[in-house]
Amino acid sequence: MDDERLVSPKNREEDSVAEKSLRPKRLGEYIGQEKVVDNLKISIAAAKGRGEPLDHILFYGPPGLGKTTLCQILANEMGVNVRITSGPAIERAGDLAAILTNLKKDDLLFIDEVHRLNRAVEEVLYPAMEDFALDIVVGKGPSARSLRLKLPKFTVVGATTRVALLTSPLRDRFGAVHRLEFYSVEAMEQIIRRTAQILGTEIDTDAANELARRARGTPRIANRILKRVRDYAQVTANNHITLQVAQTALEQLEVDELGLDPNDRRVLHAIIDLFGGGPVGLSTLAAATAEEVDAIEDVYEPYLLQLGFIQRTPRGRIATRRAYEHLGLTYPDRISPEDLQSSLW
Ligand code: ADP
Repeated sequence: MDDERLVSPKNREEDSVAEKSLRPKRLGEYIGQEKVVDNLKISIAAAKGRGEPLDHILFYGPPGLGKTTLCQILANEMGVNVRITSGPAIERAGDLAAILTNLKKDDLLFIDEVHRLNRAVEEVLYPAMEDFALDIVVGKGPSARSLRLKLPKFTVVGATTRVALLTSPLRDRFGAVHRLEFYSVEAMEQIIRRTAQILGTEIDTDAANELARRARGTPRIANRILKRVRDYAQVTANNHITLQVAQTALEQLEVDELGLDPNDRRVLHAIIDLFGGGPVGLSTLAAATAEEVDAIEDVYEPYLLQLGFIQRTPRGRIATRRAYEHLGLTYPDRISPEDLQSSLW
C-alpha cells in the first residue's frame, strides 16, 4: 500500500526515469547535508592526493534523502566507474565473487540496502574490503583447498535505512560512516526551484516554500509532488505554479500542511483511537493498520518522530500532544507514572 502513496519516500518506477535527469552530478550542485558534503570533499581530496581509491563509505538515513545520488557524485568526482547492486540482489557468495572479479582498480561498488546481505555473502565481503582478496574454495571434502585471489583496490559504498541491523564486523569495515538528515525547509526550497527549472516550469517563491514545507524534508518526495503540481498548473494555470495553484493541487492530492497524507493520519488515529494514545507495540500497530512492520519503521515513523508526533518508549509507541492537536483532537490529561509514584509516597 505504501508504494502507491504520493508521499512515500521509497523509489518507484516513475521516479527512476525522472531521477536520472534530476540527480545532481557534482558535489557543487548538491544542496543541503553540508556536514556530509564537507567531509566527503576532504575524503576526495585526500584520496586523490595519495593516488588511492576512497576509503569504504557507509551512508545511512531514511529513503529518498540522496544516498544513491551521493554515490554517483563520488564516482564523478573521482572519475571512476560505479557498479550498482543491492543486498537482496546478491543471493549467493558466488554472485558477489562474480561482481568483485569484474571490478577495475578504483571502481566504486554501491550496495544499497547493505543490511540485507546474507551471512555467506558477508563472509566473502570482509576480506574483499579489508585485504582486497577473494578466498575461494577449490574441490570438496578432505582435498578441498582454499585459494586467495588478489582483487584490484576498490571502494565499497554501502547505503542503508537501518544502520542498527548491520552486523558489527561489516559496519567496522567502513572507514567513514555518514548519517543523512531530513532536509531543512530552505534546502528543500532550493531543491524544488532547481527541479522546476530542469522541468521548465515557472514557480513563485511562496509556492516553492509551500511545497518545501509539505515535502517531508525528502528530495524524492519534493520532486514527485512538484511533478504532480506541475501537471495541475499546466492544465489549469498556464504552466505557472502560484501559491494558490500549489495549495489547491496539494489539497486535491490530500497532502496536508505538514506533508502528512491519509495513511499517516491513519497510523496516528490508530494509536489514539484504538490504543488510547499508546504505548502500542510496533507489530500490533502494523497489524491494526494493515501495514508491514518495515513500512512503519522505515517510512512512517522517522518523519512522525521528526515532527514530534510520536515517541518511542520501551513499551511501544506513544502519540504526543502535538499529534492530537494536529488531528484536531483534545489531548487527554493523563497522570504520568512519575507523578503517580510521587503522590503515593
Ligand atoms: P536514496 O538513495 O537515499 O533513497 P536518492 O539518492 O535516490 O535517495 O535520491 C532521490 C532523489 O532525490 C534523486 O532523484 C535526486 O534527484 C533527489 N535528490 C537527493 N538529494 C538531493 C539534493 N541534495 N539536491 C537535489 N536533489 C536531490
